[in-house]
Amino acid sequence: MLTAKTKICLVVGWPIDHSLSPAMHNAAYEALGIGGEFVYLGANVREGDTEKMVEAMRTLGIRGYACTMPHKVKVLEYLDEVDPIARQIGAVNTVLNDWGVLKGYNTDWLGVVTPLKQLTDLKGKKVAMIGAGGAARAIAFGMTKEGAVFSTIFNRTQERALELVEGLGLDCEIKGLDEIAQASGADIIVNATPVGMKGVMESETPLPKELIKPRHIIFDVVYSLERTRLLREAAEQGAKVVSGIDMVLYQAIEQLALHTGRNLTDEDRNKVERAMRGAIEKVRLDIS
Ligand code: NAP
Repeated sequence: MLTAKTKICLVVGWPIDHSLSPAMHNAAYEALGIGGEFVYLGANVREGDTEKMVEAMRTLGIRGYACTMPHKVKVLEYLDEVDPIARQIGAVNTVLNDWGVLKGYNTDWLGVVTPLKQLTDLKGKKVAMIGAGGAARAIAFGMTKEGAVFSTIFNRTQERALELVEGLGLDCEIKGLDEIAQASGADIIVNATPVGMKGVMESETPLPKELIKPRHIIFDVVYSLERTRLLREAAEQGAKVVSGIDMVLYQAIEQLALHTGRNLTDEDRNKVERAMRGAIEKVRLDIS
């Protein structure tokens, strides 16, 4: 039962109406038997209101935030402490209010490496990535931390890719999207752009099908569809695939551990994963 003692967590961003996070986290709280202790909701907070959003957390004693666009970078300025990894990635996706001390973390990179490590040992694997935005940064950080080697980043805006490469100290080439054929030489190819997301870009793919080989692992950050055109075509070509849904799921499990202050056992993690996958499926059925 929800009471005056129930701790509140919120996904904050603009727009968040279609966020899967509240359904996922509340289902996981129930599965862990802490449904009365924590509740997870959403708040639409516009660009320019990041500072007020942080102050509201202090004033109202809100336990946790999941920060999405457009606050992931700006929020760093207003927190009391920032975890060194979040600082290095340059973005915070999780804020914890620890008795009035606001601490920022980034769990996105764990959302990337956890499902990839279930398929392969990342050490020494050659990576080509399309895109150089916020998601790309967490991906590059996480995969490099696990020993993968970035060979090429393909992006429309080359300066942005250069910023990413210099920021993370990567030794890799930067190319335009017209040179995408060169991605085929990598072991793992990552789409870190919104190309392929549900709606107007649903019929598009950032990587021509004929470039995909059975030896590839294709990772698509897009999570508005379980199987984007890129992932469907990759599977048809015999490649292994990782969906953006997996990234959402595994970053959320780490976020739940931070927000609730629990050391999750393997059994807890399995329960949380099942509950979160069930919630994602249910939300999809409700909106489709
Ligand atoms: P962002 O910071 O705005 O970066 C977007 C990137 O995509 C940039 O490199 C941009 O290139 C490129 N891009 C945008 N539209 C493009 C187009 N039509 N054709 C080619 N390239 C295009 O966004 P973000 O936060 O990184 O998010 C990127 C995607 O990842 C979104 O779909 C988001 O929903 C998804 N995401 C998924 C997760 C997850 O957990 N699965 C987490 C975070 C984000 P320019 O630099 O040239 O503009």
